[in-house]
Formats: sequence, C-alpha cells, structure tokens
Amino acid sequence: MMSKIPFSRGVHEVAPGVWAFLQPNGSWGLNNAGCIVSEGETLFIDTLFDKVFTRAMLDEYRAKIPGLDLHGDLVVTHANGDHHYGSELFSGRMIATKSFAQEMEEIPPSFLADLMDMAPELGGMGAYFQKAFGAFLFRGLSPRKPDLLFEDELSIQVGRLTVVCRDMGPAHTKSDCIVHVPEAGVIFASDLLFIGSTPILWEGPVENWIDACDKLLEMDADVYVPGHGPVSNKKGVTLVRDYWVSLSKEAKKHFDAGLSARRAARELLGFPYPDWVDPERVVINVHSLYRQWDPSLPKTDVAELFDQMSRLTAP
Ligand SMILES: [Zn+2]
Repeated sequence: MMSKIPFSRGVHEVAPGVWAFLQPNGSWGLNNAGCIVSEGETLFIDTLFDKVFTRAMLDEYRAKIPGLDLHGDLVVTHANGDHHYGSELFSGRMIATKSFAQEMEEIPPSFLADLMDMAPELGGMGAYFQKAFGAFLFRGLSPRKPDLLFEDELSIQVGRLTVVCRDMGPAHTKSDCIVHVPEAGVIFASDLLFIGSTPILWEGPVENWIDACDKLLEMDADVYVPGHGPVSNKKGVTLVRDYWVSLSKEAKKHFDAGLSARRAARELLGFPYPDWVDPERVVINVHSLYRQWDPSLPKTDVAELFDQMSRLTAP
C-alpha cells in the first residue's frame, strides 16, 4: 500500500505507473483525471473541463511523469463536460462507450457558454452559475467524438499493465465507465464516486448506483480514484453506497407522504452527511428519485433544478 495521497492540486502517483490528477475541492467542474504509463505506452483517463485547464494538466504530466507518451489513447468515462470537453488536445485514439457517443450531444459546450453569457441577468441562479462554472472558458471548445466505441467491457494493454474499462451505468449518467488496473490495485471510479461532496443522480435508477458500489467493493482495490474529491479506499465507497441507501429511504417517506420534490429536497438538505460539499445537489437527486417512483412526472428542466439549488444556498 502506498502512503496516503494528499488532496492537493496536481498529479500524484497512486501506484507504480498509475497517476491521478486531483483538483480540490472537487466541487462543480473540479474533476479528477489520470493516466497509466508502462514501458513507453500511455493511456489517458478523462480530460478537464476546458482547454486552459486541460493544457495545464498535460504540461504537468509531461514535466512530472517519466516515460509518458503524449500521443497515447484517451478513454473518457462519461458524458459530463468536465470529463471530456478538453479532448481536442489529445492526439491518440479516443475511447468511450456507445451510450457516451449519444449522450455527449445533449449538452454541448456552446450551451454552457450561452448560459454563462446570460448569467448576469439571471439573478440568484446566475450568481450560482458564476460561482460554479465561472472559472472555465466554454466558448470555442470542440470536443472530439470517440474513435473506438465499446459496450459493457473493454480490455486494453498498456505496456505490461492490463487495463479493464467497464460500463457500470446507467446511474450518475446513462453510461458510467470505470477504469480498473487489477495488477496495480487501482480503480478510477469516475463519477460513481464523489468523495466529500454530494453525488449527483442525473440518470438512475439509484439501485444501479448501489449495485455499482457493491461491485466496486467486490473488486477489492487498494486505491479508488473518485471522479471528484480525494483519493479513497473501500471505506469511501461504502460511504457513497450508504448515502444512496439512506437518501432514497428518507426521500421515499416524503414521496409517500405527498410532499413535493422541492419541499422534500429542502427537508433533506445535508442529509445524512452535513459536512459534504454542495449539499444543495440533493435537489437533483430527489427529483430523479421522484421520477423513478412516478414515471408520469415530467422531467424537470436543468435550469429549474439550478434555480432550486441556488435558492437552497441563498443566505
Ligand atoms: Zn464530474
């Protein structure tokens, strides 16, 4: 076992040849990425949210990682922009699941760029957007489409390391791919793990996310690199599993009692871990759970979700 990895911005070797790029505090858009380097071959995992952030990460990779091949392949774990909007800076093949290829079209960078332009006129919600996404430059990004698509599972040889990409979704998004390096005892868990911040159920069903946590635990890795937050271990996976079990149980009580999703979210703010960052994301989670329990409910618009979240954080 390696000693504890500090949660500081930049690249950290989490096992021999396996590197994680971390971005404290793991809030909106501050995702983790990484790469695997063995015998002159490299596989990159995820990009950062825009070209400025991604270029800085690649510069740090180049400066600090012995034997790095900048032309290595890139695997992207899911369709949220923080994990793939910087893909045009990579020259190797881009690898993703089939569902990713469809889902990536749903929110193009121009949508976020337009939203940020409008933010000053959007009151509390606009202020929330600026706080969450104001550090990023969405205008002019052209994320690549994947070159190699897979379903369920794909094994890739990187030097002497075998790397297994596995689709565990739908849960956080329609397709959540983890990257497992069994010989190194490392799993890049993508956004199936948020450590120290509130996870987001964009897609569901929640049972799939709980199952995914069980599978992550069965894989018995030493190191779990979350999509957001510090490098973790099985205890961290268990906390995320428990979050979904507790939250869905409590939310179901409110649902059965006829409370609106908006009210239920307000009741459940900070539940059950009050110290996790971005507790207002419970709004998204409760809305997704309610739709799971009553499919006739209309899908709540993303802008409406952000509006409700901004109201929950208002002083
Ligand atoms: Zn993310």
